[in-house]
Amino acid sequence: MAPKVAIIGAGFGGLCMAIRLEMAGITSYTVFEKAGNVGGTWRDNSYPGAGCDIPSHLYSYSFEKYASWTRRYPGQPEILGYLEHCADKYDVRRKIRFDTEVVRAAFDGGGWQVTCKPTTTGTSTAGGAGGEVTEEFDVVIAGVGQLNRPHYPDIPGLADFAGTTFHSARWNHAHDLTGRRVAVIGNGSSAAQFIPSVAERAAHLDVYQRTPNWVIPKPDAAFGPLTRLAFHFVPGLQRAYREWIYRYAEGTLYPALAQGWSTGLLRTRALNHLKAQVDDPELRAKLTPGYPPGCKRVVIDSRFYPALTRPNVDVVTDRIVRVTATGVETDQGHREADTIIYGTGFRSTEFLSPIELTGRDGQTLSDQWKQGAEAYLGISVPNFPNLFLLYGPNTNLGHNSIVFMLECQVEHVMNCLPYLWQRGPMEVSARAMAAWSRQLDAAMGRMVWGDGCQSWYKTAEGRVTNNWPGPTPLYRRLTALPPLPAYRFVGADHAKGALSS
Ligand code: NAP
Repeated sequence: MAPKVAIIGAGFGGLCMAIRLEMAGITSYTVFEKAGNVGGTWRDNSYPGAGCDIPSHLYSYSFEKYASWTRRYPGQPEILGYLEHCADKYDVRRKIRFDTEVVRAAFDGGGWQVTCKPTTTGTSTAGGAGGEVTEEFDVVIAGVGQLNRPHYPDIPGLADFAGTTFHSARWNHAHDLTGRRVAVIGNGSSAAQFIPSVAERAAHLDVYQRTPNWVIPKPDAAFGPLTRLAFHFVPGLQRAYREWIYRYAEGTLYPALAQGWSTGLLRTRALNHLKAQVDDPELRAKLTPGYPPGCKRVVIDSRFYPALTRPNVDVVTDRIVRVTATGVETDQGHREADTIIYGTGFRSTEFLSPIELTGRDGQTLSDQWKQGAEAYLGISVPNFPNLFLLYGPNTNLGHNSIVFMLECQVEHVMNCLPYLWQRGPMEVSARAMAAWSRQLDAAMGRMVWGDGCQSWYKTAEGRVTNNWPGPTPLYRRLTALPPLPAYRFVGADHAKGALSS
């Protein structure tokens, strides 16, 4: 007997959790995945040029080395291929309920009643209205990510547009951009990656920039055959390379975000990159940010600026007034477009939404998080026993690999499982949560995200709910501590049995 575990999402987080359970011999888990494949964000974001700006030898699981990477910064298809490879190698697909969306989960005193429904209509024969089915689990682990729900801008007239529109995370591959007059709204990391391809195909491209971003070069290169052979055959080489990238990011980029010794270096690097790639002083001025580097996610890309200097591309900084049937009206006049692409990011501060979660005594997560999401270690929430979050509040990074953080979180969950199985439902205590929040606030004070810009890292009120403010080795140490002093047991009926497969 082992606890019955529901995992929500089969992206980097959910798959890691499932694989780790398999490794421990625990097979009493089910992964609910609303789409038809694994991959999460790397399945959804298939726009041209999509890729990761963290090298894949680090942006991958520490336990699953991969000799197939073709370049330092592989594109989305390779990363998706890696996740598919992991799902197959560790044989977790058999435990994934694809095309099944968890709509709500409620704690009933002993465990969780998890309600799901099919995302493809008309396929369900079981359950109540809309094919809903409710099942009991001991533990719920949410691996839904922070960037899974597209944000569409609240610009008047969006519905009036007569042409084609889509979001970067829902790319319309059937829509040929050749010869089109395209408007891109947004210029963050996603837009920076797809704009070069769009610019090559479109007759004309208007890039609507509300705020410029700091951009540093991406030192990408294909691995030659010898390097690939070496990665394959030289013992320890992949691990050493991974470790080097990790230490480099931690040692040079983190201090810049913590307003330490490399802050000036980051600014200089970005300004030099801009100067090297953009000759026109007027365009350069438009692209120069007026806030500290790192306040918003730094864009790491070498193809973005050259695309903006093309004769068929305009960077439009006029304020957008409305979208019309035939284009975009700004405070300086109307600009024609037949296609509008939203590179406007994600509803990043609405963690777990739209899943309705109800904890102890009818407490809903949406109520508890009215002032902004928070969780102990970014993993556990008071009043929500046996609920664990992967990539939860304050665990995003602006400088290193989120996969590192996910593995720390998964290990913490693994450390909690024997306790909750032997002693009943456990939740983080209000005292531990309050101490955690105080420490987080203190650490947040020195980070660059607070003032000077708005970003997806924080709520409209300015509270940073998404980012981890410390060095990542500290996060690993904290998540590896024995869980017990911070948790309390809340079930009426404790011991269910010893943890075993
Ligand atoms: P984002 O960074 O949130 O950028 C959204 C863009 O849309 C911003 O330029 C924003 O302008 C603009 N925008 C939003 N609402 C607008 C409105 N009403 N009017 C005009 N402009 C509007 O989103 P993203 O580019 O999709 O990137 C999100 C995150 O995904 C990144 O920061 C990164 O962490 C991750 N990502 C990573 C990679 C990678 O290589 N690892 C690649 C892509 C994405 P303002 O700046 O003025 O708000």
